[in-house]
Amino acid sequence: MEKKRIYLSSPTMHGEEQAFVQEAFDTNWVAPLGPNVNAFEKEMAAYTGCGHAAALSAGTAAIHMALRLLGVKQGDVVFVSDLTFSASCNPIVYENGTPVFIDAEPDTWNMSPEALKRAYEKYPDPKAVICVHLYGTPAKLDEIMEICEAHGTPLIEDAAESLGSTYKGRHTGTFGKYGIYSFNGNKIITTSGGGMFVSADEEAARKVTFLATQARDPARHYQHSHIGYNYRMSNVTAGIGRGQLLHLDEHKAKKKAIYKRYCEAFADISAIQMNPMNPEGDANNWLSGMAIAADSRVTPDMVMDALEEKLNAECRPIWKPMHMQPVFASCDFFAHNEDGSSVGEDVFARGLCLPSDIKNTDEEMEAIIRTVKELF
Ligand SMILES: *Cc1c(COP(=O)(O)O)cnc(C)c1O
Repeated sequence: MEKKRIYLSSPTMHGEEQAFVQEAFDTNWVAPLGPNVNAFEKEMAAYTGCGHAAALSAGTAAIHMALRLLGVKQGDVVFVSDLTFSASCNPIVYENGTPVFIDAEPDTWNMSPEALKRAYEKYPDPKAVICVHLYGTPAKLDEIMEICEAHGTPLIEDAAESLGSTYKGRHTGTFGKYGIYSFNGNKIITTSGGGMFVSADEEAARKVTFLATQARDPARHYQHSHIGYNYRMSNVTAGIGRGQLLHLDEHKAKKKAIYKRYCEAFADISAIQMNPMNPEGDANNWLSGMAIAADSRVTPDMVMDALEEKLNAECRPIWKPMHMQPVFASCDFFAHNEDGSSVGEDVFARGLCLPSDIKNTDEEMEAIIRTVKELF
């Protein structure tokens, strides 16, 4: 018999989700918009302190809307974290903008303030900076915001992976002019698929809601003075989100416990470094990752193969940096190190994500740890 799959990060449902969805069915609010969407936005705003929110069909759509509000157009440069998922930067290209990739730094694996400063030397007037909080670890926000403010550049926080993480006591996603969250299936909470645009600016959230609902002008007939999008979250999926949000703190606590357990288990193996935390922050530890010392004979592939083959456990390489992707080969990139070597490339070469599913049992965690330790 096939061994039960051990997941990297899969949806964890609790029951309340179904109650909210049932309510949507009972009242026939199955269409987009409706009470669950409004309530989910309010509840997310209350939880994160973001001010105002617009529930959308995906986190990617939320990034796209943020760039639309900033008026990114043909030829505009946008600085974006290099070590991330492609959804962070694809929307720049939707608007014919030019992504310029900013390397990671070793302390948090997030956007390097040093590389960011270097990028400004060549491109003094970018339209926006998109900063990612990788695997839930908050970026060096003070440093990055200081640089952005000095140049008058609006900051968009891609907090898709860091919902529930805080920096100096405040939620990630609420520092930039605009922030975005994702409720994709593998994220810390999910709506099966969905995202949210957030901002302290009520007018911005209102504009996003307008654009995401096909930009219908207030009129009895269908009248349009803007190009719109069909990006709104449905009232059914918002119900799932409301139920999930009730359990976000619990998910975070379990994710943190997984990370802590890996840290303690591998503390005596000097070749293993767990993904770094920001001492100024409190991470949601969405995914636990590790990097293996360059001089070890163990490679990330060996660890992933062993876990897959022995335990049927799902692992994943670190995100492949955007400047290494064929589709972005012509884009400019600024490295963290003065000699031009890239921190992101190094982390990608030496790193991997470990199974971080909050439903993994004690025995499964033991088996994962034993299997990794046997290799070293
Ligand atoms: C998941 C993710 C996104 C995209 O969110 P979707 O809801 O899947 O569109 C964007 N950025 C990062 C860093 C992500 O991990």
